[in-house]
Amino acid sequence: MTYNYYLSSEVLLFILNHELYIAYCFVTLMAGSNQLPEKYHEMIFNWNDSLKKDLPFPELNDESLRDGVQSPSVYEPPLELKLKFIDRMIDLKIDAADIGFPGAHDKMFNDCVAISKYIRENDLPLSPNCAARSSINDIKPIIDVAAKAEVKLEAAIFIGSSQIRRFIENWDQKYLLDLAEKAIAYAIDNDLSCFFVTEDTTRANPDFLEKLYLTAIEAGASRVCISDTVGHSTPVGVRKIVDFMKNLIKDTKEEIKLDWHGHDDRGLALVNALVAAECGVDRIHGTALGIGERCGNTPMDLLIVNLFLEGYKYEGDTQAIIPYCNQAAKMFGVKIPHSYPVVGQDAFRTATGVHANAVIKAKKRNDEWLTDLIYSGVPAHIFGRDQTIEVGPVSGQSNVVYWLERHGYDGTDTLLVDHICSLAKNRRRIFTNEEIRLIVNNYRKSKEQK
Ligand SMILES: [Zn+2]
Repeated sequence: MTYNYYLSSEVLLFILNHELYIAYCFVTLMAGSNQLPEKYHEMIFNWNDSLKKDLPFPELNDESLRDGVQSPSVYEPPLELKLKFIDRMIDLKIDAADIGFPGAHDKMFNDCVAISKYIRENDLPLSPNCAARSSINDIKPIIDVAAKAEVKLEAAIFIGSSQIRRFIENWDQKYLLDLAEKAIAYAIDNDLSCFFVTEDTTRANPDFLEKLYLTAIEAGASRVCISDTVGHSTPVGVRKIVDFMKNLIKDTKEEIKLDWHGHDDRGLALVNALVAAECGVDRIHGTALGIGERCGNTPMDLLIVNLFLEGYKYEGDTQAIIPYCNQAAKMFGVKIPHSYPVVGQDAFRTATGVHANAVIKAKKRNDEWLTDLIYSGVPAHIFGRDQTIEVGPVSGQSNVVYWLERHGYDGTDTLLVDHICSLAKNRRRIFTNEEIRLIVNNYRKSKEQK
């Protein structure tokens, strides 16, 4: 006799449906949980599964050409490099780009016109937007850019919103509400679409935020942006403020999109952006390599990497991430840090004996997933890279054997292997390929002379 024997047919049907639903959810979650092929699921346990994997990949807004340029350590890029960078954005299927602040100076204005024309003439799937303070003086140049380039532009109209800023500037609430309303109405009247950005949103008083956003939406803003301008938010704060904004938007009964714009002052920009995605914001802002004012912004490249690895359905080219970062580094005249995830020169490189030994064993099985995952949380081959074994003071014999065989030398010559190992132990850093080649050549010569 079973427990179900006593249940009515309706209840039985309910239980059956319910169990089917749970089974369906489980299968959906597993399928979308990460990018790992199924045969490795038993080898790698995954605590990372989120319950919200049914969310679509968020839209992306690239701020490199505006917030990136504001980094105190970069060079202002020439137009030609900006256009090449736009091409790299297209490869990554980035949806929108802040192409600059045309009210800042003539070069920026001319670059905004040229970039907008480039997007239109090449029919690129990228929506350009330009930044402006809530002032006619800043919005007028955007109208002029749109007219000269014959494109539809979005104006990112921003205003200070936190109490601390209002205190410093002696602004009262009514003054700011009037500014926002007039600026947005002016932009809309001149055929710009408008997204409204409250600076320092994450430290602003919610009562005033509500007044500001309702004013902006009433004036015609079709998108609003939460800005963690000074990198104040923690993941807990992100959940709360996104929730607050979603409820506020819902109450207006208007179709308003919600953006997240984060900075990295506490080192939390990337994780905050991932939380914002999970909370269902429509669009996330980022810059290449996280380059931006002070400690920078959400790194666009790592945002894509992590959303992809988490199982969000990404339609761009994962192998375009490295060219995008390299182009940004060239454009801004900066070096990519050696340990930068995925892109840095050391991201998939080891000289440690134990690690190299395991990687070499995996390589011998001719299984690139196994090789990639034995000592890395990121599958290198997905991003166009592979595992590299070096030889240095913490290496073992297997590093040397592998290096020799990989470079066309005899890895079975144990005297040579021991010779390179003993030289490596007395060094303070790893060998370059040229240094090992020189050792091998000298070893061969001394052998011939004997
Ligand atoms: Zn910013």
